[in-house]
Amino acid sequence: MTEMDTRIVQLVDEGAAQRIRELEAELTDTKTMLASSDMERESHMDRLEILENVIESLCHQFAYEGPGTSITTGGLSVLEEAFQALGWEDPHPVPERCCDEPGCSAIADCGWPSDAGYRRTCGHHMPKEWK
Ligand SMILES: [Zn+2]
Repeated sequence: MTEMDTRIVQLVDEGAAQRIRELEAELTDTKTMLASSDMERESHMDRLEILENVIESLCHQFAYEGPGTSITTGGLSVLEEAFQALGWEDPHPVPERCCDEPGCSAIADCGWPSDAGYRRTCGHHMPKEWK
């Protein structure tokens, strides 16, 4: 290899090394940007989950009860929008809120201690002494 050839190889090596350093810096920047974007995304998802839970709680608190073990918007536009945001049908079934009296499908709106343990029933099945 001539002296010129050696110099050319040396220049190419230096150029390649410089380019590798630039690419490494770009990669580091990109990784930093992605990590920050992931954190932002996670924060947005947390916030969306909180908002969804709040809307759901508001619906459970303010939607009309019935028919049966379901809640309905009753045609109230703000509830219709909330149900739509949650992807709920109107009426929306709420089996988890059913009166625990066998055969009753009304929504339980009271809880009381009984000899058989704590019960959640509709007003009709609540003992007189608790009314
Ligand atoms: Zn009942």
